[in-house]
Amino acid sequence: MASRRSRTAGGADEDEDDGADEGNFTNRGLKEQRRRVNEILRRCGVEDPKEVNMCLKAAIAQRFLEPDFSKEDPLSVIVLKTRCEDCNKRISVTMRDLLDQGNVGWDYEDGSEGGGVVCPREDCHWRAYVTRLCLGNPEVDCGKFHHHCSQCPGYGQCIGDYRNAHCEHCGNHYFTGLSGFPCPCGGDEDDDDYDDDDDDEEMGGGGGGRSRGERFNPRDCPLQ
Ligand SMILES: [Zn+2]
Ligand SMILES: [Zn+2]
Ligand SMILES: [Zn+2]
Ligand SMILES: [Zn+2]
Repeated sequence: MASRRSRTAGGADEDEDDGADEGNFTNRGLKEQRRRVNEILRRCGVEDPKEVNMCLKAAIAQRFLEPDFSKEDPLSVIVLKTRCEDCNKRISVTMRDLLDQGNVGWDYEDGSEGGGVVCPREDCHWRAYVTRLCLGNPEVDCGKFHHHCSQCPGYGQCIGDYRNAHCEHCGNHYFTGLSGFPCPCGGDEDDDDYDDDDDDEEMGGGGGGRSRGERFNPRDCPLQ
């Protein structure tokens, strides 16, 4: 594992919990934003806002989505409506459904288990992701094109293909593929000590692996 990637310098701070795994909050404005979002989520009954889907938090931070406190469950606000691709049942996806969605949809060939969209029919196990929430433009996706970059400042942003990567040198996103192409900026060339981590299987499932204390590295994709 490339250790340089596991933490961005200055990304963690002391003023709220350990603050380590929920994004890169390096300045006052961003920290203020985080305080506001965490408070909103706590008011909604979320015990540990740190564990919440970063794409959803980014959407709340930018006011693309707001809980409705006039409802019994403020997070029952509908984000989008879709249909199950297997049984055609209508699905209304709420903010609450997306609390635990993973940052990256790399289980898209394996049932999209990390996705927040779940078919309500008991005998149907169809699932999917909602991507681009943080861009104010939510779309349903099997996961192959759901990749919320957690290395960008603040809560991060969606960057499309799960094989895209964030370059720590130039800050741009680029296609790294499954074999780990370097960024065109050339700044990452010395960083070739990664290996294929076959035991990384729980990444992307359930909570998306954020609690593991590591940044997403597409080169560790278990599908390769
Ligand atoms: Zn279904
Ligand atoms: Zn990024
Ligand atoms: Zn996103
Ligand atoms: Zn670069």
